[in-house]
Amino acid sequence: MNPISSGKIILSPLIVLSFLTPAFPPLEQATSKWEDIPEVTVLLEVYGDFIQETATKDNDVAFLINKSWVYFRNGRMLTEESFRFQDRYQSIFYDYPLGKLIKPPKYQQMPVRSSDFLDLVFGTKETLLREQCDWVPFLDHKAYMNHFCEEALRKVETEIFYAAKSNVEVEDFVENLKIIYSFQQKKVRGSENASHHSYGLALDLVPESYDGKHANWKWSTAFIKEWHLIPLEKRWSPPQAVIDAFEKNGFIWGGKWSHFDAIHFEYAPEILRLTRLKNN
Ligand SMILES: [Zn+2]
Repeated sequence: MNPISSGKIILSPLIVLSFLTPAFPPLEQATSKWEDIPEVTVLLEVYGDFIQETATKDNDVAFLINKSWVYFRNGRMLTEESFRFQDRYQSIFYDYPLGKLIKPPKYQQMPVRSSDFLDLVFGTKETLLREQCDWVPFLDHKAYMNHFCEEALRKVETEIFYAAKSNVEVEDFVENLKIIYSFQQKKVRGSENASHHSYGLALDLVPESYDGKHANWKWSTAFIKEWHLIPLEKRWSPPQAVIDAFEKNGFIWGGKWSHFDAIHFEYAPEILRLTRLKNN
């Protein structure tokens, strides 16, 4: 969908209203316009503490964050400077299947998502980002994580330790966890997207062994051309109880992406909340 036509879709109630009411609709109507967009509702719920103001600007919903406006643009979340490249970007929202994966994710091109929103929320300078992070104990290791997801990660750990008491698979997973990679100033492999690792919002749980299975699409491309067709039983995966514990607390699992990254978890509660909202 191109941004111009999507803009019309969002605008249409307002156009209709303009025939029925004076040029300036009452504030309640203007407000309900953006509150009717589920993605906007979810963004305000999750990132409300970082958003100083929400307004209708240039026929779009705009959020004021640290003195700059970021525009909804049908989920693309762009600053004015990015408007000229807007066709390159996809929405920051995407379909994420909850629960156990039953088949390999459908192939899709590596999405390009703007980092404008998270850049405004957390900043881009490494020193500033480090100030927002702390070492958080996690499964007998430590992860350098943003305060924004610290509490959620502690809850994940509690649930995994609890599950390990009665689930041998989970117990083995914890025992065989070799190293955790967390905060890194890096781009997502094979794309220009800034990774959630850049903000201290992602962690890679590297096991002692992958048992000869596939863990990352990029590693598999070297010897399997149709890597996206690799069946689930040949893909490495953390135990389902571990994935569930993360998802319950706002983290998504990279194993569910088309470009699968099975050791990767990232804090993106907006994706999970939107999925749950749509499922209800
Ligand atoms: Zn990662």
